[in-house]
Amino acid sequence: MSYHQLPPPDTILLAPSHPISSRWWSKETVAIVTGANKGIGFALVRRLAEEGVTVVLTARDTGRGVEAAESLRREGLQNVHFFQLDVANPNSINTFAAWFQEAFGVVDILINNAAVSFNEIHENSVAEAETVIRTNFYGPKMLTEALLPLFRRSSTGARILNISSRLGLLNKLKNPKLKEMLLDEENLSEEQIEGMVNLFLENVKNGTWKSQGWPHVWTDYAVSKLALNAYSRVLARRFKTHGLTVNCFCPGFTQTSMTGGKGNHTADAAATVGARLVLLPAEELSTGKFYVVGSSNAFYSKL
Ligand code: NDP
Repeated sequence: MSYHQLPPPDTILLAPSHPISSRWWSKETVAIVTGANKGIGFALVRRLAEEGVTVVLTARDTGRGVEAAESLRREGLQNVHFFQLDVANPNSINTFAAWFQEAFGVVDILINNAAVSFNEIHENSVAEAETVIRTNFYGPKMLTEALLPLFRRSSTGARILNISSRLGLLNKLKNPKLKEMLLDEENLSEEQIEGMVNLFLENVKNGTWKSQGWPHVWTDYAVSKLALNAYSRVLARRFKTHGLTVNCFCPGFTQTSMTGGKGNHTADAAATVGARLVLLPAEELSTGKFYVVGSSNAFYSKL
C-alpha cells in the first residue's frame, strides 16, 4: 500500500504553503472529536485548541479521556472539555448529545475519528468484523444523526470530517454490482449502504467473504471505511445547500496504536493537515470529497 501516489487528474490541490485566507473561527466555534484520548484524535484536539477553537474531547473510557483533557489543559489549553462517548453504544450517544445540547447548544465541527482494527499490519482476520463495522461505520453514522439538529447554520459553514482510509476507496472493491451501486451518486441511499454492510457480515458468517470481491487488505476495516465514505457522499448531497459540508480525510500511514507504532509520520503531523483541512474557509472547502495527505503534505481529493 503506497501513501505516496500522485494525485489523479480530477483532484483539488492545495500547496503545502497555501495560506488560510481568512480565520473564520473564534473561541465561540465549537468542535467535537471522537476517540480523542490518544493518537490522531488527541493530536487533532490539540491543534484545534491551539487555534483557539473550543473543543470537546471525547473518549469511551472516562479515566483515559479525563487524563488526556487534563494533559492539554496543563499545556495551557483551557478551551478543551471532556465528555465520555462510546460511539458503538447508542445509549452513550444519546447521553452525550443531551449533555452537549445543554452545555453548548450548537456545534460547528464534528470530527468522527474513533475507530478500531483488530489486525496487525499483515494480518487479515475478520473475527471481529461486527465490532469493526459497528464502531467504524454505524458509530459515526449514529452520532452524526444525533447531532444533525445542532449544527450551527451560518455563512462560515458547519463541517463534518470523517477520518477514513484509502483502504476503503472504491478501487479496492472488486464486486461489480456493488461498485456500480456505489458509483451511482444520484441514487445511492443509506439503505443500500447498510444492505452492503449486512451482505458483508453475512459473507463473514457463512465463510464466503474471501471470494465475493471485498477489499483484500484489512477486509473488515476496509469495508467499514468504504461504507463510511459512501455515507459521507450521501450526507453531503443531502446538505449541499444547507451550509453543512461533509468530507472524508485519510491521514496516511501514521504512527499510532492502530499500526503498532509503524508509519510514515507522527499523529501530530497527520493532525496538522487534518486541522487545516477542517478549518478551510467555506469558499475553499468542497463537500462530498475524500482528502488525502499527498507526498508533500498537500491535500488532494478523490472518490
Ligand atoms: P488509535 O488506535 O491510536 O486511536 C483510536 C481511538 O479510537 C482511541 O482513542 C480509541 O479509544 C478510540 N475508540 C475505539 N473504539 C471506540 C469507541 N467505540 N468509542 C469511542 N472511541 C473509540 O488509532 P489512530 O489514531 O491511528 O486512528 C484514528 C483514525 O485514523 C481512525 O479513524 C483510523 O481508522 C484512521 N486512520 C489511521 C491510520 C493510521 O495509519 N494510523 C491510517 C488511515 C486512517 P481507546 O483508547 O479506548 O481504545
